[in-house]
Amino acid sequence: MHRIHVIIAMDPHTIAQGARSIKDALVKNIDLAGLNQDVRVVETGSLGIYNKGVVLVVFPDGIYYTGVKLEDVSEIVSEHLVKGRVVTRLRYSEIPEESRAEEKAPRFGKQVRVVLKNAGMIDPESIEEYIAQDGYEAFGKALTELTPKDVLKIVTDSGMLGRGGAFFPTGMKWGFAAREKSDEKYIICNADEGEPGTFKDRLILEGDPHAVLEGMCLAGYAIGAHMGYVYIRGEYHMSIARVRRAIEQAKKQGLLGKNIFGSGFDFDIQVREGAGAYICGEETALIESIEGKRGEPRDKPPFPPSVGLWGKPTIVNNVETLATVPQILLKGGDWYKSLGTESTPGTKVFTLVGNINNPGLIEVPLGITLREIIYDIGQGIPNGRGFKLAQLGGTTGGILTSEHLDLPLDIINLRSVEAGLGSGAMLVVDDTHNVVELVQNFAEFFNHESCGKCTLCREGTGRLVELLHKLTSGCGSEKDIDLIERLAGHMMKSAFCGLGQAAPVPILGCLRYFRDDFIAMAQQNQQRVPVSA
Ligand code: SF4
Repeated sequence: MHRIHVIIAMDPHTIAQGARSIKDALVKNIDLAGLNQDVRVVETGSLGIYNKGVVLVVFPDGIYYTGVKLEDVSEIVSEHLVKGRVVTRLRYSEIPEESRAEEKAPRFGKQVRVVLKNAGMIDPESIEEYIAQDGYEAFGKALTELTPKDVLKIVTDSGMLGRGGAFFPTGMKWGFAAREKSDEKYIICNADEGEPGTFKDRLILEGDPHAVLEGMCLAGYAIGAHMGYVYIRGEYHMSIARVRRAIEQAKKQGLLGKNIFGSGFDFDIQVREGAGAYICGEETALIESIEGKRGEPRDKPPFPPSVGLWGKPTIVNNVETLATVPQILLKGGDWYKSLGTESTPGTKVFTLVGNINNPGLIEVPLGITLREIIYDIGQGIPNGRGFKLAQLGGTTGGILTSEHLDLPLDIINLRSVEAGLGSGAMLVVDDTHNVVELVQNFAEFFNHESCGKCTLCREGTGRLVELLHKLTSGCGSEKDIDLIERLAGHMMKSAFCGLGQAAPVPILGCLRYFRDDFIAMAQQNQQRVPVSA
């Protein structure tokens, strides 16, 4: 039994900063110090701390070290692990010296970890460590004590809303597929995360892949499906490798396959890699892609729970949704409802990015305010700058300003200000930024990612880029602002799918709150026009 555990974050960001060689050096130095019976070095997924180099934690002390370099390893071993003295120069500065328990630190104190409960705590490549943290207990309980209808009822009664962006009730969606009579049904985990600044699904998959697989097993049991697919963005190499490894481990333990634990229930899971098209995050385009076709949205209705993959009833759920389900089964719907607000129970995982002192992966109960996220968890805006806006939910997200800092975040409150929780990024923007350039950047992304199926989005996104570029390059006038607004309004009402309908959301949000910035730019442009022109 090891007395001390050194947990080292192994995600693409820390690997690029040398985490692998630091882990090797730690193991070697611990060995040289004769501590290999006392100290164990464990790899884990992201610890949620970004832009701070290699991150590791020494347990049971709960001391976080950031920015660790190869040359620091011998000091950590000789000082902390041998003599019990913290290396203060490397200690994560946000955590006050007197607050050893992570709960006392502001970053963690306001977080509630349901989906991320294992992330940064277990080795994501070890099914034994997942099982030791109650992993697969919910699936075992379902197979031995509950009928598929019971599972469906628990998820429905919990009030859980899907975390893919639409916030549709998960139990209701499962119920549609459960009622369909079909020889085959499918569960798809949508891990085709592709918005700039959004990477929470990647970190969930890298940090706790078995939780997602267990959620898929439970969904399959509830609706009567025997096959599941994890559709992962092709660039997510580590997620793909960890999910594949987790599937193999689950198969070896008899948790996937035929007649699981003699229950008569068969369920298998395979990985499908996406090729990097943002539109394939839309569920019907994703289904087309799995079927080997060009990723374009289908006409709806029929919806996938009735007619989905290969024409069969199919549930497409987001990574975060599926990773939450085992906890709901274990702890009950009332426990889940005790988190969050009445309209939006539970927690939300965000990637906190932009002009923020402590960027990273966070999980908060719904009902928390923007102020708490930015100033407590995120530790404020760098260089003492003022807060200008936050874009909540990724590139398609609505715009929140200082007047919304104390608004409890849930779907009802956010809808009242024409915003939403979206997929999972929270972009914080300080007062040095020009919103016209910001929205031009968003428009360029959507123009690039438009699948081209419908005219309004294919041509509209391009035209928005042209008009915004006209403004930022010194030629646009106030007439162009009106054109942008009218075109954006038409796209929201008439584009074929969510991409084209949501692309104008941040533009219209910025026009609503920062119209003066657009007008000032247009007026400056007019002053530049030569008198003879
Ligand atoms: Fe394709 Fe855009 Fe039309 Fe959606 S709205 S179908 S992404 S062109």
